[in-house]
Amino acid sequence: MIDESGEPHEMIQVHEHGFVKLLDVMGDDEEVENSARISYGEGTRKVSKTRNLIRYLMRHKHTSPFEMCEVKFHIKLPIFVMRQLVRHRTANLNEYSGRYSVMSDEFYLPQGDYLQKQSSTNNQGRDEVLPKKGMLQFEFNRIYDGASTAYQVLLEEDLSRELARVLLPVANYTECIWKIDLHNFFHFVRLRSDSHAQREIKDFSDAMYELVKPKFPLCCEAFEDYVRDAVTFSKKEMEVIRDMRQLWTIGKYGLSEREQTEFLEKIKQGDDQ
Ligand SMILES: Cc1cc2nc3c(=O)[nH]c(=O)nc-3n(C[C@H](O)[C@H](O)[C@H](O)COP(=O)(O)OP(=O)(O)OC[C@H]3O[C@@H](n4cnc5c(N)ncnc54)[C@H](O)[C@@H]3O)c2cc1C
Repeated sequence: MIDESGEPHEMIQVHEHGFVKLLDVMGDDEEVENSARISYGEGTRKVSKTRNLIRYLMRHKHTSPFEMCEVKFHIKLPIFVMRQLVRHRTANLNEYSGRYSVMSDEFYLPQGDYLQKQSSTNNQGRDEVLPKKGMLQFEFNRIYDGASTAYQVLLEEDLSRELARVLLPVANYTECIWKIDLHNFFHFVRLRSDSHAQREIKDFSDAMYELVKPKFPLCCEAFEDYVRDAVTFSKKEMEVIRDMRQLWTIGKYGLSEREQTEFLEKIKQGDDQ
């Protein structure tokens, strides 16, 4: 995509009014490899190619070579998502100023299967989709229309923009330039593309990752294999896993194959109770 400045940018629309644009990228997979060579020297080159070295670095949490690369985005997002984004302190950001400029009249409106019930098991989560109720969106729009009108009235009364904006809901849109190194970008994606993250920031994180992945295919592959899609076990869980190994070696107890199957079935039934 080419924007007004004539610069090519890759952009993904997020929800009705938001977007992420990948403005700039510093480095690539080879850059990570070259940075790592400083510590491993030429000797390693003989035994490992770029992919193997990157996978080794990711697997062993040798993260600093990933910090040598950077990605820069232009993001348009609701203020409540921005509040979550700013918690990632390792990024550099510059946000649209509601003191200097008039705020957007666009608001995030949750729709369709985004309208979910409060989760009964996770206080920070959602459960199943609510049956379709027009009144939900009516309530959102009622507040958005009222806030938008009141904001305009206050500006027309010549109230300063920095004060008029305080009545706008957190669904109002803002924009920022956001830059982060690749190591901390992966950390951000791990937290915000996770199923425990709020769905709205996950949508932004997923879109950002989709734009970054073609720029660092080997780093992203290693990140997915060793971090994003990997699991860690607690000490207690490891004890359970070690005990389970008894069952994996069930053959040594002299049970026939049939008896082994029936025995495992009995244990499984116990689990279901
Ligand atoms: C599912 C979810 C729920 C959340 N709920 C809440 C909530 O209810 N309330 C809330 O306030 N926040 C909440 N957060 C935000 C969360 O606590 C973190 O602030 C946010 O995820 C940023 O993570 P981070 O500090 O690791 O990232 P970054 O700020 O990017 O930091 C990256 C890493 O750098 C190091 N680092 C950065 N700054 C410091 C520092 N000052 N001191 C020491 N080490 C540092 C740490 O190792 C850190 O992990 C939530 C986040 C998630 C993903």
